[in-house]
Amino acid sequence: MSTDQVKLNPMDIDELRPCAVCGKGVMHTGSPVFYELNIASCVVDLKNVQRMHGLEQMMGGATALARVFSPSNVVAQRMPADRVLLCSECAGVPHPPLRFVGENGT
Ligand SMILES: [Zn+2]
Repeated sequence: MSTDQVKLNPMDIDELRPCAVCGKGVMHTGSPVFYELNIASCVVDLKNVQRMHGLEQMMGGATALARVFSPSNVVAQRMPADRVLLCSECAGVPHPPLRFVGENGT
């Protein structure tokens, strides 16, 4: 989906959570903007990646052709996303993204 195709998705009051960093309400700064992060772990499907690589080698490195003949082009499985909210103050401070994995505020 390109950025000009993004659909607006209103947030209901039931979806509000405290800021994942400071624990305060996400509107405590008075700013009309806060941030929603959805971060998902992806686990490599190693067997399929190896099969795709083998097929590419058999076809002399013709990657596009190998993709057509591959029974599956899946390289990883997405795990359920963790959703957190950040107030505008905490969003301006660098945080390692993995900090929010497992903090599902949904
Ligand atoms: Zn905060």
